[in-house]
Amino acid sequence: MNTKKSIILLFLLFSFFYISDAQKVDVYKRPLKYERSRDYDAKHYRITLTFDLDNKYFCGENRITLSPLKDDFKECVLDAEELITDTVIDSQNQPLRFKQKDKYLIVHFPKAYSYGETLTFTVKYHAKDPKYGLFFDDERLTNPKMVSTVSWPEYAHHWFPCYDFPHDKVTNELIVTVKNNYKVLSNGRLVNVKEDRKKGTKTYHWSQEQPHSTYLFMLAIGPFEIIQDSLGPLPVNYWVYKKDVEDAKWIFKKTPYMIEFFNKLFEYEYPWAKYDQVTSPRMGGGAENTSATVLGEQAIHDRRAEQDFSFERIIAHEIAHQWWGDLITLRTWAHTWLNESFGTYSDYLYTRYDKGEDEGSFALLGKKNQYLREAHTRYMRPIVFDRYDHAQDNFDSHTYPKGAAVLHMLRFIMGDKPFFRTLKHFLHKHEFQAVDTHDFMIAIKDVTGQNLDWFFEQFIFKPGHPVFDISHAWDEESKILELRVVQTQDISRGIPIYKIPVIIGIVTPKENTSEKVWIKKKKEVFEFSVTEKPLMVRFDEGNYLLKEWTFDKSLEELLYQLKADDVIGRSWAASELAKFRNEPCAVNGLIDKAQNDKFWAVRRSAVETLGKTKQKELVDLFKEKCSDKNSKVRTAALRVLGDYKNSGLVSFFRERFEKDDSYLAQAEALRSLGKCRDRLQLSFLKNAAKMRSPRNVIKRAADWAIKEIQR
Ligand SMILES: [Zn+2]
Repeated sequence: MNTKKSIILLFLLFSFFYISDAQKVDVYKRPLKYERSRDYDAKHYRITLTFDLDNKYFCGENRITLSPLKDDFKECVLDAEELITDTVIDSQNQPLRFKQKDKYLIVHFPKAYSYGETLTFTVKYHAKDPKYGLFFDDERLTNPKMVSTVSWPEYAHHWFPCYDFPHDKVTNELIVTVKNNYKVLSNGRLVNVKEDRKKGTKTYHWSQEQPHSTYLFMLAIGPFEIIQDSLGPLPVNYWVYKKDVEDAKWIFKKTPYMIEFFNKLFEYEYPWAKYDQVTSPRMGGGAENTSATVLGEQAIHDRRAEQDFSFERIIAHEIAHQWWGDLITLRTWAHTWLNESFGTYSDYLYTRYDKGEDEGSFALLGKKNQYLREAHTRYMRPIVFDRYDHAQDNFDSHTYPKGAAVLHMLRFIMGDKPFFRTLKHFLHKHEFQAVDTHDFMIAIKDVTGQNLDWFFEQFIFKPGHPVFDISHAWDEESKILELRVVQTQDISRGIPIYKIPVIIGIVTPKENTSEKVWIKKKKEVFEFSVTEKPLMVRFDEGNYLLKEWTFDKSLEELLYQLKADDVIGRSWAASELAKFRNEPCAVNGLIDKAQNDKFWAVRRSAVETLGKTKQKELVDLFKEKCSDKNSKVRTAALRVLGDYKNSGLVSFFRERFEKDDSYLAQAEALRSLGKCRDRLQLSFLKNAAKMRSPRNVIKRAADWAIKEIQR
């Protein structure tokens, strides 16, 4: 790639990158990991535990039922860490010999079992305040005294001895005794709750009756309030801290509607006994444990934070995992995309369904940007990738957003009906199983008869993405539009020259035409017979491809595109017009869009490009945009105004801080105040720093502004 030429990433809204030739992180040096071998199939775990939250202690047992996958099965190796084994007994209560290692527990049997037999034994154990897997939290301002688990990716064996790898699916029961002021949540159906008044305890018996992987096992103990909801006969409950009840009611309200959406979309009825969500201090986003998702406490916030810090997408994402990840599950961490790309694509599909096409397109663009950032600043790797130090390594921006963008391309190539038919078939064929990418490729062949291995080879098994350099020329005499497309990606590291279809849209004063063409070579020239000079030529109409591109366009065409294209095209045109920022007609076109475009991202893009002109005459426009109905536009306008570093705006910024109902816009007002470098504002900023806000955005902005003034 060319290090001198800056490539505009529209997607990055609209930062500039220089592409480095070297990858900053060499992921190919990571160790190769094969799927784990095992010599038994775990069938059922009956886990019985008693908790002492005051002493951060628990004890109990796991009664394990398993079936050997070989003959002469004399010993069983279980994963177990931070657990102290007290005894192991067989089904007749006879003690069994065992050896405890750092990471394993080896149980010896007095006789050899054969392939296909079933055996049951019980491990009795205790643990005190483990470092991983299960967490005791003291009471804080933000959370009550509680216990929560993070079994993902391989930490379940820090709270019960088991075979801890996702390709083994088991059913389980969890029977937990706690002081009777606590409630207990786990996977599956609540069989019963028994109270022992004398002891002052309650015992919750949960039963997960369809098999699932150990990383999806969960437990939460706390003085939760339970908000009850439902979708028809399906119980849908929200387990939250007492102080959060009122906000949780409106934040989780859409949960049944989301489940219903996915039921219809995937044509597979929600598979589990119920759906619960619980908040925990140990989680950033969410963990999609089977039928019981744990969400970060940040999910709960006041109403005015919703515009900037909504958890709606994450709530939808974790629900989608109940199919993609929980019902069918990655066989190994090399195939993480089968969980996360499908989950991420599903949250896009929900956004588009709930908020409309424009928000959907923009959400997908955001995902592409996220991947491209990682590709430019860290590394590029194939999506299916069996080199990692830890399972967590593959949970990156190749897995979540890139895989989602690749699924969108796949849907474009397959067509809507065959694509969704395949998803349905894949779910039904492999329900309650562990799968890998080849199972998905076969599902496509089962349903459509089409072999799309070439697509997987390019986008799933190889690194990178296409980078297009596009230009067009119109010949008045022959009435031919010539479109040149050059693939300029660096192909030295296994990145291919892509074979991919793309839609070319041509708009003339009389008609709009769309034509699908196939790009197969590094350089392609396409000719289109067009009766009049085009007003606008679109490459990848519909924005189906994951790509970077440069497309040199005239001022005239950009101005037309700014008015007439879809939201992605209009935003792109607004950003491209930075090249013409000294032209009055460009400035006027952008002013019109900043004020009148119906979609916020186009208004924001226009404001940002206008900001680059630094024209004093635009100050009033930017002030007006600080009252835009969308907080992201207001935030951009405040940033642009701050860059004038004009002390005459001090009182304006103070007023915006006091009046704006968006935490992010308020934070930007403080930063802009800092940029004015007026020492008299220090006490105002110190006061502002005391204000509570989500993720401390206000305090962090105030601190930054104070430093800016004092430097
Ligand atoms: Zn996820």
